[in-house]
Order: sequence, then C-alpha cells, then structure tokens
Amino acid sequence: MDKTAPIRHLYSCPSCHGETWHTTSVATTDRFGLTCLACGLTSLLTHDELLDHQQSWEKELDEAMQKWEESWQSPPPDFE
Ligand SMILES: [Zn+2]
Repeated sequence: MDKTAPIRHLYSCPSCHGETWHTTSVATTDRFGLTCLACGLTSLLTHDELLDHQQSWEKELDEAMQKWEESWQSPPPDFE
C-alpha cells in the first residue's frame, strides 16, 4: 500500500476546457497544485481556494454515497 497515493479530484482544467481528474500536490507553503491527468497542466490554488473545492467535493461525494446507498437498499424505480 502506498500511503502517498494521490487523491484524485474532478476540477475544471483551463487547458482541457472541461472537468478532468486532477491530483493534488503541495507547491509552496500556501499554494497547492492541481495537476491535470489528461494534459499534465498544473493549476495553482491558494489554501482557501482548495478548501472551497474540497467542500464541494465532499458534498458531491456525500451525495454520491447517499444515492449509492439508496439504490443499494431499494431496487431502482422502473423507468418509463
Ligand atoms: Zn487538462
């Protein structure tokens, strides 16, 4: 197991013009780098900006988990 395995986040890449997977890394003491896995471009974020994104990521993750649990606990409704 690699404890330093990067956590991947969806982030809108200015080069790819869309949401792509990014890895986070520490660039300087107060800057974090988000490196696009598609094109390799690194966007620099301040700590506050990263926190904002992390909150929205956590919200998305929570919603995804809730949906997953709901669909796991009950059969999906029939679609017309
Ligand atoms: Zn990109």
